[in-house]
Amino acid sequence: MSIQALNSKFIEKYGESGEEARVFYAPGRVNLIGEHLDYNGGYVFPAALDFGTTLIVRPRTDGKVQFASTNFPYEASIDFSEIGHAKTGEWVDYPVGVMVELAKKDLPVSGGYDLLFHGEIPNGSGLSSSASIEVVTGFAFLTLLGGDTDTVEIALLSQRAENQYVGVNSGIMDQFAVANGKRDQAILLMCDTLEYSLVPFVTGSYKLVISNTNKKRGLVDSKYNERRSQCEEALAILKQEVPSLSYLAEMKPEQFGQHQDKITDETVRRRARHVVEENQRVLDSVEVLKNNDLKQFGLYMNDSHVSLRDLYEVSCEELDVMVEEAQRIPGTLGSRMTGAGFGGCTVSLVHEDDVQRFIAEVGEAYKNRTGLTGEFYVCGIGNGVEELKGVK
Ligand code: ADP
Ligand code: MG
Repeated sequence: MSIQALNSKFIEKYGESGEEARVFYAPGRVNLIGEHLDYNGGYVFPAALDFGTTLIVRPRTDGKVQFASTNFPYEASIDFSEIGHAKTGEWVDYPVGVMVELAKKDLPVSGGYDLLFHGEIPNGSGLSSSASIEVVTGFAFLTLLGGDTDTVEIALLSQRAENQYVGVNSGIMDQFAVANGKRDQAILLMCDTLEYSLVPFVTGSYKLVISNTNKKRGLVDSKYNERRSQCEEALAILKQEVPSLSYLAEMKPEQFGQHQDKITDETVRRRARHVVEENQRVLDSVEVLKNNDLKQFGLYMNDSHVSLRDLYEVSCEELDVMVEEAQRIPGTLGSRMTGAGFGGCTVSLVHEDDVQRFIAEVGEAYKNRTGLTGEFYVCGIGNGVEELKGVK
């Protein structure tokens, strides 16, 4: 939807007023490579997508903060003095949670506002519409209230809103990518320290195709916890060999090769090997992207999937079928599961001339083989959170 069309909806809902409306935007995100490394002291490598959540916001004089979204029928009108007093269990908890965090920073939303959100990110599909709505809210209010719009701080306060107010436990990657992304650049991020750098990733005539398996995930939490404790076990053993080691991902593949037989449990050894090799793949990806070698990057994506499937064992039949069918399309440079696994999405790098064929053929084969209907989103790499000009 154009800003003009969204503004017409805004006027329809809230009417005209003498106050100035402003427009803000935050994207969705995808992790390109580097899976299950965040809790092992390794890198993730996400990018902001070129579609996201737009927010029109305009001050009002009666102290009410009014919430509406083009994506949900639920609406709310809350006096600013009561923001955060009661959770609703509705989508407004996301922006309200951000306002609660702003108040903790001594920047309470004081005064009234009309808010209209419009999301182009499918909800609950793994593209992080939740981080997008949080970050756009945080950035908008920090701008309006004259606060510091440091995008790292905004990512952190958005994460706290999701963890504490909404009550969903999530790491920092999503909010970080949504807040700090740049067009044609991926983000090399160390989640623990928030040390990061932008890495040119010019997709050119290639597109990122995100394929949603629509597989219902079960038991994700228990399996996730099991992987974490296996990694801790491996680290404890390897630390006896290399006392300076504080995280598994610090180990280089050669060094791991020298010490791996100290890990007698074969499963634990495979988990550790994934972590060590996947982290190296992220670093190798950054190297080949210096020459924008998308072809080699695609091969690393394929390798990453194999490792997640065979060593870390967090894939599932649906993800494997989606990847296998994607790799059959001639214009596909690489394909892998993205996210925690056991369902969710894959990400593929596909030549634009083959995207339609990809969606048709992979979609059909996926349906035939799994009985499920996949969904496909064609993306480029876009900017992180920003103010957009031009309501008037
Ligand atoms: P994901 O982040 O993977 O898309 P989540 O379940 O974490 O899925 O977050 C989705 C929720 O975020 C939605 O159900 C809704 O509550 C909220 N949300 C995201 N985008 C919007 C939007 N544009 N308008 C209203 N609520 C939104
Ligand atoms: Mg989410």
